[in-house]
Amino acid sequence: MTERTKSAAETEALGERLAAELRPGDVVLVSGELGAGKTTLIRGAAHALGVSEPVTSPTFTIGHTYSGRVPVSHLDLYRLTDLGHEDPALLDDYVTPEAVSFIEWPSAAEPWLERVTRRVEIRHAGGDLREISY
Ligand code: ADP
Ligand code: MG
Repeated sequence: MTERTKSAAETEALGERLAAELRPGDVVLVSGELGAGKTTLIRGAAHALGVSEPVTSPTFTIGHTYSGRVPVSHLDLYRLTDLGHEDPALLDDYVTPEAVSFIEWPSAAEPWLERVTRRVEIRHAGGDLREISY
């Protein structure tokens, strides 16, 4: 399915809708260039899962964990090219059977993920337009 959004608010709303189908243990990979709206979409999804804290980009760590109605993990692996050169156990604090996990720039982690529920891809489509496939 592909949809276009015209604003950050619409992308958040799409994230909220996607969240309705997610269950503990689910892992959602979110791809797209810098500024595409990955964090924006995850913010909407996290809020829909009951996270009340602000959802921001992880900067000094590879991820954040939030407690909503379920644990929610948000990873950004932009700086990691290959988790094999790091320690794949880095993921274990975030990707758990209890949590719903969202991963930006997921390619470094992909070989180590046992289960991927959904892949979301966001593309710039001029100005504030984004094309989102999921
Ligand atoms: P990423 O995590 O992909 O780097 P962010 O979600 O952090 O991207 O940032 C997206 C930026 O683009 C935000 O400043 C947001 O307000 C802006 N923006 C403009 N239009 C849209 C849209 N349709 N969807 C998502 N973000 C948008
Ligand atoms: Mg981001």
